[in-house]
Amino acid sequence: MDRRLRRRIQDRLEGERGTIYKDAPLRVTLAYPNTYAVAMASLGFQTVYRLFNEEPDFACERAFLEDADLAAPGRLPTYESGRAAGNAHIFAISVAFELDLVNIVRLLRAAGLEPLRSERDESDPLVVIGGPLTSSNPWPLAPFADVILIGDGEETVPWMAEAYRQAEDKAAFLDLVEGAPGVFLPDRDEREPRWATAPVEKLPVYSQIISRHSEFPGVFLIEAERGCPRPCTFCLARVMYGPTRNVTAERVLAAVPEGVEKVGLVGAALSDYPFVKQVGHALLERGIRLSVSSVRADRVDRELAEILKAGGLRTFTVAADGPSQRLRDLLKKQISEEHLLGAAELARELGFKGFKLYQMIGLPTESDEDITEMIEFIKRLAQITPLTLGVSPFVPKRNTPHFGDVFAGVRQIDARLKRIQKELRRLRPRVEVRSTSAKWAWIEAVIARGGPEVGHAALLLEEGESYPRWKKALAEVGWDNPLTRPEGASLPLVVG
Ligand code: SF4
Repeated sequence: MDRRLRRRIQDRLEGERGTIYKDAPLRVTLAYPNTYAVAMASLGFQTVYRLFNEEPDFACERAFLEDADLAAPGRLPTYESGRAAGNAHIFAISVAFELDLVNIVRLLRAAGLEPLRSERDESDPLVVIGGPLTSSNPWPLAPFADVILIGDGEETVPWMAEAYRQAEDKAAFLDLVEGAPGVFLPDRDEREPRWATAPVEKLPVYSQIISRHSEFPGVFLIEAERGCPRPCTFCLARVMYGPTRNVTAERVLAAVPEGVEKVGLVGAALSDYPFVKQVGHALLERGIRLSVSSVRADRVDRELAEILKAGGLRTFTVAADGPSQRLRDLLKKQISEEHLLGAAELARELGFKGFKLYQMIGLPTESDEDITEMIEFIKRLAQITPLTLGVSPFVPKRNTPHFGDVFAGVRQIDARLKRIQKELRRLRPRVEVRSTSAKWAWIEAVIARGGPEVGHAALLLEEGESYPRWKKALAEVGWDNPLTRPEGASLPLVVG
């Protein structure tokens, strides 16, 4: 192994607590199509690692695409033993984001496996793909996977392991798992299965490994709630995470081990979690710092904000999502300007270092007036507290009411972004605008509602992705969707 790669892995392993070193007859490689830091911040990835290792005859080791830069071609190593990642019975991939699609091709190749299922045989590991993206749209993954798992891993992993034990070969394994909840066999199924849903008794899930090199360095992550009861039309939380399950405060607290310095509470809408304050107070009493990714502006009150401040949270983050009240109502966001102003007041009064507001643009029926309303509102907010405005283009997703909506188009989104930047520029440094690219949002939109042919397009992009290259690759595989053209469409914009 390359000396620099050996050093990198060694450094990371030394910065971990909870790593599982295990020898067992059945080898699983759990691979992530991106960096080590992002993977280790994923509770789903960590949970699958623990679940496979809980099976007495399975040993699960991790591998990360990031290391392909220093690994010999086809020899991506695992972290725990340094064996070749492709030398496994099961090669499991956890994928969260549409834009990691091409990375899945690269990851399989880096592990010495043919990306296409049709070009692998009995001697290759069983390639299983799971993770949040599979609940939203598994179809672009179909050319690569033997099995796609949809829904909660707490349900699917244990009996997948049992089926693997019993089966004599791949075909027998597929016979055993066919038709089970959450199992999608791209070779056999014409429709997606119903999702696998774990009962609340199997929760909470939490970090197996605390890593100094994670996106959240040294943080113990624990999922206090899964699912969200809110009706926001654009959001995949209900689809990806299933019905709402709240874990009791006692069980959350009991799962936090001694010696932990910081806890990251995970959940779709944590400020709705009924025990959030109880858990927060109890952690603070134990001298543990606390973080959450964001709070709902209509739910956060002084007590909760004080807990978060005392827990060490520096930036107070809320989402408006719709640029105007009309659009927030259309999205069923249930957030008003009063809620957002109240949150900003709290952030100022309690002395948070930063205040961050998320917005989407390019929404169905959006007009220049909606953007004007947003700009004027940001000016009012900025009088209360300095803020960072995160603007992202709206990407209509499958399994949401927006599936039939048009992607607004790169030019329109860019024009609106430009206007927002220009009109808020004079408020700098009190207002900092950060935006994501309209072109990459279009690629995300393509993958979000694409079929297997989009996977085939990804196969053509292994050597490098860009907006023009994606356009060319899609043309080569003959993919076109009038709702998802880069230039937008002249179809009526309606919430489906
Ligand atoms: S946007 Fe937040 S509150 Fe709305 S459904 Fe999604 S997770 Fe729930």
